[in-house]
Amino acid sequence: ILARGRDVCRRNGLLILSVLSVIVGCLLGFFLRTRRLSPQEISYFQFPGELLMRMLKMLILPLVVSSLMSGLASLDAKTSSRLGILTVAYYLWTTFLAVVVGIIMVTIIHPGGAAQKETMEQSGKPVMSSADALLDLIRNMFPANLVEATFKQYRTKTTPVVRSPKVTPEEAPPRHILIYGVQEENGSRVQNFALDLTPPPEIVYKSEPDTSDGMNVLGIVIFSATMGIVLGRMGASGGPLVSFCQCLNESVMKIVAVAVWYFPFGIVFLIAGKILEMDDPKVVGKQLGLYAITVVCGLVIHGLFILPLLYFFITKKNPIVFIRGVLQALLIALATSSSSATLPITFKCLLENNHIDRRIARFVLPVGATINMDGTALYEAVAAIFIAQVNNSELDFGQIITISITATAASIGAAGIPQAGLVTMVIVLTSVGLPTDDINLIIAVDWALDRFRTMINVLGDALAAGIMAHICRKDFAWDPGTEKLPPSET
Ligand code: ASP
Repeated sequence: ILARGRDVCRRNGLLILSVLSVIVGCLLGFFLRTRRLSPQEISYFQFPGELLMRMLKMLILPLVVSSLMSGLASLDAKTSSRLGILTVAYYLWTTFLAVVVGIIMVTIIHPGGAAQKETMEQSGKPVMSSADALLDLIRNMFPANLVEATFKQYRTKTTPVVRSPKVTPEEAPPRHILIYGVQEENGSRVQNFALDLTPPPEIVYKSEPDTSDGMNVLGIVIFSATMGIVLGRMGASGGPLVSFCQCLNESVMKIVAVAVWYFPFGIVFLIAGKILEMDDPKVVGKQLGLYAITVVCGLVIHGLFILPLLYFFITKKNPIVFIRGVLQALLIALATSSSSATLPITFKCLLENNHIDRRIARFVLPVGATINMDGTALYEAVAAIFIAQVNNSELDFGQIITISITATAASIGAAGIPQAGLVTMVIVLTSVGLPTDDINLIIAVDWALDRFRTMINVLGDALAAGIMAHICRKDFAWDPGTEKLPPSET
């Protein structure tokens, strides 16, 4: 038994360490909360976790560019278009399924039913219009400057402007009426009451072009995929660039293989650091708690039942074995709340543990980390209907359909970074006329839900790679794992 235990530990050492680090991170975080550390002490404490995030983010750019360019360049036109169409269709289908699960859960549990909006925590944050959000999504697909796209994305900035109302001097009412009155109170006293009749100022929203920090992954994905397809068509003359990308991809994966040994240590501080800075849990009211439970139940049903069943029916393989292979990536998603930052580890798990053909992973994963977010879509649908319930507004069937379509679109538009779904939520709310300011109702629990939905986003991408590898196995049968062309093409 000892020898067997040693063997299991040797083979799964990193995974066991990662699981332990999540547990230790939670315990340490809750323990240190009782010590009331100063903000500066907390920021020093968070430093090792910050390093983990920086390492992961550092790898995203070379990984996305090299994997898409070399992956698509190594496929012939027929195979790449088949893989592309199947992958995007599968992504849309599973995202839509996730939305349906969310709608069913929020309708059954009805978390916002007895809510009194006034009693719920609100914290003001400016919001943008849905038209601006949709246009920004399309703008980000076509970055004007590729270098800038590696560290900034386009985002329309919406700021409130206070304007005095337009009234002509004749229409202008008197500014004040003074009412004089005498009030008897502990002897006699005269008091003046003034009534302010100045018309209230008008608040209008001004949209102006702006950029926000963070890589424009969508723009980089579109550019790299296009380059990959073009390189594939160029044949021998594109060879040097393709070899360069293959070499870059392999070297990044080698760096990942070394860096992963730091990750369990980083996870402890990342999780404990977040627990240290979170607000006191008592601000989470009953309705908000029920809302969080609804989202988590939906995520569990979608991630642990629907997606694995889909995988099982399509591939006839055991989904539990597959999910065990990507467990390390799921833990990193839990710790970082970012599917883009998790990308290097998802790659590693799929190639090394699940033996997915690297040409498939190189296309399916970066595209998935950018547009396939089942967890985010589910959460957006639940949150929108929860906000409707809180406002006592009955949604008809047409509005539910609108929510399902816009929640799918909003999840595609969300970047793979922490709490990106909160920003794109405005698309869903405005589509059915719900107040966008009510996004503030769910902010208190969003950081925690973000971690769970990111896990499902990553799981969705990984299972998609497994399913695509099965469906396209004949196209890839000629050369698993290496980059050479099939006999018919050489
Ligand atoms: N944090 C999520 C991700 O990176 C996006 C979101 O739902 O906010 O996948």
